[in-house]
Parts: sequence; C-alpha cells; structure tokens
Amino acid sequence: MQSLNDDLDRLRAEGLYRQLRDVASAQGPRLVIGGREFLNFSSNDYLGLANDPVLKRAGVEAIERWGIGAGASRLVCGNLEPYRQLEEKLARFKNKEAAIVFGSGYAANTGTITALVGEGDVVILDKLDHASIIDGARQSGATIRVYPHKNLKKLEDILRSVEARRVLVITETVFSMDGDLAPLAEIVALKEKCNAWLMIDEAHATGLYAKNRRGIAEAAGVEDKIDVTLGTLSKALGCAGGFVVGSQTLIDFLRNRARSLIYSTAMPPAIVAAAGAAVDFVMSDAGNDRRDRLWRRVSELKNGLAIPTESRSPIIPIIIGDEQAAMDLSGKLYERGIFVPAIRYPTVPKGKARLRVTVSALHSSEDVAMFLREFNALTH
Ligand code: PMP
Repeated sequence: MQSLNDDLDRLRAEGLYRQLRDVASAQGPRLVIGGREFLNFSSNDYLGLANDPVLKRAGVEAIERWGIGAGASRLVCGNLEPYRQLEEKLARFKNKEAAIVFGSGYAANTGTITALVGEGDVVILDKLDHASIIDGARQSGATIRVYPHKNLKKLEDILRSVEARRVLVITETVFSMDGDLAPLAEIVALKEKCNAWLMIDEAHATGLYAKNRRGIAEAAGVEDKIDVTLGTLSKALGCAGGFVVGSQTLIDFLRNRARSLIYSTAMPPAIVAAAGAAVDFVMSDAGNDRRDRLWRRVSELKNGLAIPTESRSPIIPIIIGDEQAAMDLSGKLYERGIFVPAIRYPTVPKGKARLRVTVSALHSSEDVAMFLREFNALTH
C-alpha cells in the first residue's frame, strides 16, 4: 500500500490533506472542540434545528414506539408508518402530488438521476453542481454536457445541439459553495423551449426562501414548471436524509427504479419522525419568524464584511485562492475562538480555496459582531 502513502504525501504537500476534528458538543452556534468553546460559522443548520428540543422529543418518542433500526430496505419491511406521514407532509409543504424520502441527499441525487436517465440520454449540468449530482450523472451512463456556471447562452447552445430520448438539465438553486442563485426563470424558459426536463436541487433553499419557505422555485414563481424537485432534510431542517417531490408518476417511477432507495436500509424511524417535526416547524409562523431572524443576521454579516459578494444566501464565501493561505486564515480564526472551515479542491476548483462562512438563525448580533471584529482584524 505504499502508493497510498505516496498519494497522501502529495496531498499534504499541496495543502489538500483532510483530517476530522472531534466535536464534543451538539450542533449549534457554539461548538466545544478540545475542551474549548468556539463560535461556529460552519454549519448548514441554518434555522438552528439540529439540537431543537421539539425535534429531539419527536425522535425520542419514535425510538420508544418504533425502535432504533428500520430492519431492511423500505421495499422489504422497512417502510414504517412515520415514512408515509413524512412523505405526505413533504408533498403538502412543497405543494406537489407526492414525495419520496431517501437515506441522504447524496443518495437522493444519485438514485434519482440514475433512475431517470441512462445510456443514449443526455444530462446537462451547471459547472458548479454538487458532487452528488455529478456522481449520479456519471453512474447513469448518460452523455454528460456541462455549461459554465449560470451561463444561459451556453446552456441554450447545448440544448439546441443535443438529440436524445431524454434530455435532463440539473441545477442547484442555491449553490452550496458560492451561495449564489441559479437564474431559474430563465432556465425554465429554455428547457420549455427545447422540450427538456428540469431537475432542481433545493438542498440549501428549502425552508428559507419565498412566502411559504419552499425555496427558489416558489420565489421565482415557476414551481409548476419543474419536473423534478430535490430537497434535503439535513440542512435547514436540521436532521438527515433527502427527498424528491413531483408528480405521482415520478414518485411511483422512483420507488421502482431508484437503486439507492431499493438496495439500502431505510432511514432510522427517529430521524424520520424528527424530520416530520422539522417540516411542521418550518411551515408554522414560528418557522417564518426564525427564517426572518436568519436573514437579519445574514445582512449584518454581509454589511460588516464589506466585500463584494454574489451570495444571496446564508452561505457567504470569502475567496482566498491559495489552498495553504485559506488554511492559514482558518487556523488564525480558530486561535481566536472562531470556527470557519477552509474549503479546498476538489470541493471547489484548484486555486479557488475559500472560507465558507455560514450563518445560523441562532447566532446573536453579538456573535456576528465578534466574527467581524476578529476577521477584520486579521485581514486589514
Ligand atoms: N445537494 C447539495 C447541493 C448539497 O450541498 C448536499 C450536501 N452538501 C447534498 C445534495 C447532499 O445532501 P446530504 O448531505 O443530505 O447527503
């Protein structure tokens, strides 16, 4: 296995070596690491639900009633009642005919894409689409075409040039490492004109945008034009898992064809029940208030940073460029009690290393002010 060591040495030399950091507290605006408390600006738990008492109670009650494990794949004997309840709730929340839940957002993307397209079909991706979308596209065997980030002209050129039984365009609506938004209304217009399908990944939008908190498709007024909508239970909803909503036909098809659903043990009932409580919360007035609070903190942080940003989300990237320089800045913030990870290749392109700052509704104005004080002191 010497060649593995050689590869690891190379990663170290390039500033790309990854290690896990043990966290000794629950998720929240503060984390305990190595016996010390840090302000946490690194999580996707945007609404602060990951350690919420109501969700925890729902999970504990589900353990008492349903036990720990689901026992098998959902299609064998693992389809416990809380699944149906969660799927009905998700369909109602997202205003679609039906929903289907997967063990993770990653599994939802790979399972859905490989079910929908195969050899002879074409998948068209934004250059910055998430790894789980890319992996699904690769596994599907379809021809993959990629357009530069948000470049509608190139997307149109590709759409006009391809001919296939099925053409599937896939975009994130909020891009996970840049925090910017897809031009969704324009993408919808193009896919309609060229008779393609459109799948959107609302992982970082679900719970946060538009009147009913459904996401960017709702905000753009194009929900009824989207063929496949994916969301996760793992970000603003504070739990784990992924889901797809759409027509009853789509969901029936995925139940029959999505391999990551068929060949994987069902998610534990505790998580399913907690996710149901999270959806209830997001749909409630309290969920709306929490969302509004998040946007106030996001504005405070963006205004205080005073650097131009394309971000329209709680994800605020600070592009450093060099991998080691990004690691060093992250390390200096860490010394000052602030936890913000450096994101490096291959998660982002080489030479585009960054700090990915994320805001939570549970941060106080003082938390944001402390981040700004320390960050500005280090960089000015
Ligand atoms: N899609 C996007 C856009 C993501 O950012 C992520 C997670 N980083 C996923 C899918 C995968 O979701 P999960 O973490 O629930 O597997």
